[in-house]
Amino acid sequence: MQDWLEKDLTYNWHPYTQMLNLRDNPPLLITRVAGRYLYDADGKAYYDSNSSWWCNVHGHCHPAIREAVEKQMRTLDHIMFGAIAHTPAIELAEKLVSITPPGLDRVFYSDNGSTAVEVALKMSVQYWRNTGNSRKCRIISLDAGYHGDTIGCMSVSNVELFRGAFDPLMFQAITAPTPHCDDCALPCKNKSFGRLHWDTDDENPPCVASMERLLINDADVTAAIILEPLLMGAGGMLIYPPAYLRGVAQLAMKYNVHLILDEVATGFGRTGKMFACEYAGITPDFMCLSKGLTGGTMPLAATMTTETVYEGFLSTDSSKTFFHGHTYTANPIGCAVALASLQLFEDDNLLGNVNTLTPLLLQKMQTFADIPIIKNIRAIGTVTAFDVIHPDYAELLKKIYRAGLANGLIMRPMGKASYLFLPQSATIDEVEMVFEKLDGIYREILK
Ligand SMILES: *Cc1c(COP(=O)(O)O)cnc(C)c1O
Repeated sequence: MQDWLEKDLTYNWHPYTQMLNLRDNPPLLITRVAGRYLYDADGKAYYDSNSSWWCNVHGHCHPAIREAVEKQMRTLDHIMFGAIAHTPAIELAEKLVSITPPGLDRVFYSDNGSTAVEVALKMSVQYWRNTGNSRKCRIISLDAGYHGDTIGCMSVSNVELFRGAFDPLMFQAITAPTPHCDDCALPCKNKSFGRLHWDTDDENPPCVASMERLLINDADVTAAIILEPLLMGAGGMLIYPPAYLRGVAQLAMKYNVHLILDEVATGFGRTGKMFACEYAGITPDFMCLSKGLTGGTMPLAATMTTETVYEGFLSTDSSKTFFHGHTYTANPIGCAVALASLQLFEDDNLLGNVNTLTPLLLQKMQTFADIPIIKNIRAIGTVTAFDVIHPDYAELLKKIYRAGLANGLIMRPMGKASYLFLPQSATIDEVEMVFEKLDGIYREILK
């Protein structure tokens, strides 16, 4: 094992990782995964409490997924998708159209969340250009939004730590205030720390007005508004109510700008509905899907859009073509796996499972409400979080991460939040087990 770690430090460069620190805190070497557990070389088990960066759904190496890979690999591994079609991509597109909100009738494939977002941004801007509105080219995003790490995605993301070094490369986006229910002073019945509190959800929360102010000034130069629906992951697991999303969708319509919903993290049942935007009963102009699309096993992404947008690109003028693609666009193995994953959603009633877990997760998290530096306890779907309000929150969260590893949990923090982001297939017993461990960890470190 030591040999492997030596070689890892010699040859690899890990994402989001200050490599200098890895000399003293070597990476965890995982040699095997099964169900919702990762195992290291000594056989020690770690529960996958962040779903392997928010993507795992059914647990690892699920037999149905493995079978789909094997079966697909026997007939068709990978071919280009430029004017060549294959049945896995056709079947999956038909399926995605049937399970996403009505009106999302076209599928454009790529291979990761960032590319799904880049595609939506580029399609929106080119749609307006193709239809004679080339002034409409700016994008509005939320001030704690996150949409990926490529230059376009970063330009509409606002997690400062991730983008500071690249400012000179970025295009100018318009930033709207995030609906922060936790420290919002506006009078509102929607204050929301998670789905369980949405009984009071009513129309027009005052935060929608901040979006409208931007549109009043800038609608004629704005192509699209991009949002993560209801759950803002990298911004720190912030949850806002459906009424805000509904309000923004109405504004997008009123001011003739596109609405791009980045469901990369929230899609496929993570929030308790198949797609988070279903809580608001809206159809966006674009929906970006990736992470859970293949159950968290293969790199695949899809950008869904409307027939109206699609038709904006149909022309005998070749400059109106959407000139974008990736080598692994619509990878057949990825598509086959996505179909197998969606079948498991039905066979295993995963949405039902998520909806039994949510109240339990919230109730368990609320048992820490007596710890004074814990604030804003919240939950949606299989995600639950709180903020650590303390000048040394970063150090405390690092301690929680290390104590988590020692106890067989993956507790990588996000901003000032400590959170769980469980696979949709997690069980009640696993939740009990996780919280038994967390009780010791949180009460020791955050006391
Ligand atoms: C993870 C994430 C992305 C980026 O996806 P990658 O596959 O890492 O490029 C984009 N948007 C959201 C909301 C995400 O959580």
